[in-house]
Amino acid sequence: MKKYFVIFAILMLLLGCSSSAEKKDQAVEKTVAKEKNETLEVVEKTATNNVGSFYENESDFLEEEKQDTPKVEEIVEQKPETTPELFSKNVKVTSDLDYIYVESNGMPPHETGEFPNPANPNTIKQQNYKFKFALKPVLASKNTKLPMGPVGIAFNGVPIYNPYNAEGADAVKAEIFDQCEGHPDPQGRYHYHQLSDCIEGSKEKIHTAIGLSFDGFVIYGLTDSSDLDECNGHADKERGYHYHATTTFPYIMGCYSGVPEASDFDQNTGKLPPPPQNGNSPPPR
Ligand SMILES: [Zn+2]
Ligand SMILES: [Zn+2]
Repeated sequence: MKKYFVIFAILMLLLGCSSSAEKKDQAVEKTVAKEKNETLEVVEKTATNNVGSFYENESDFLEEEKQDTPKVEEIVEQKPETTPELFSKNVKVTSDLDYIYVESNGMPPHETGEFPNPANPNTIKQQNYKFKFALKPVLASKNTKLPMGPVGIAFNGVPIYNPYNAEGADAVKAEIFDQCEGHPDPQGRYHYHQLSDCIEGSKEKIHTAIGLSFDGFVIYGLTDSSDLDECNGHADKERGYHYHATTTFPYIMGCYSGVPEASDFDQNTGKLPPPPQNGNSPPPR
């Protein structure tokens, strides 16, 4: 009996040892596997965190790796397309693959001052504006001077003029405007030389889009940013190249950085730079 017990005990010991050894091996394997997974997870998390904290998405990250400081031309490529929804309802907008076509009677959808008045003999008259804007604007190798007459359009259908009056002086300083910073020229065209208080949100939020330049680039609200170029524009990753209104000269645009649509220019006065004049002052424009 004792002999059997001893044999039984030895057998149990052997079995016990082997099975616990197996279990131990399995446990080790599991731990290793678990550790591997955890390591992977940690790596993944670290990678995600890095991307998340500096880049919107992975393609931006890859883009950044290729080129530390993207050129303005590359930023322009990323410009989101201008949509007809930006225009107010009094403006008719259609588009094809290349252009956005805008029709406006030029009557501001906001109150205006009394015209004519002692400071301005002109009357506001309905117009028949038909402008087209490149949907994919491109920067030109050289800036283009702004013509007289419309140089772009506000999304409310009112044309934007360059910063000069007919005498080539600073229009904002030399001319009288109504409560919406507009006035009519001799052809009855109501227009802005500076940001209008009657364009909603443009003074509170810098990147409120207010209009389109004839070169297809968007004009945004008031900024005091010091990195604006002589055309009053700059580029960022979200918006590509764009213009800003400023409280100082040139107030809206100083020139075209892109290629302007020449067919949009005023056929009578559009080709002329501000003429220097002596003596008699013509009516405000
Ligand atoms: Zn900006
Ligand atoms: Zn004017």
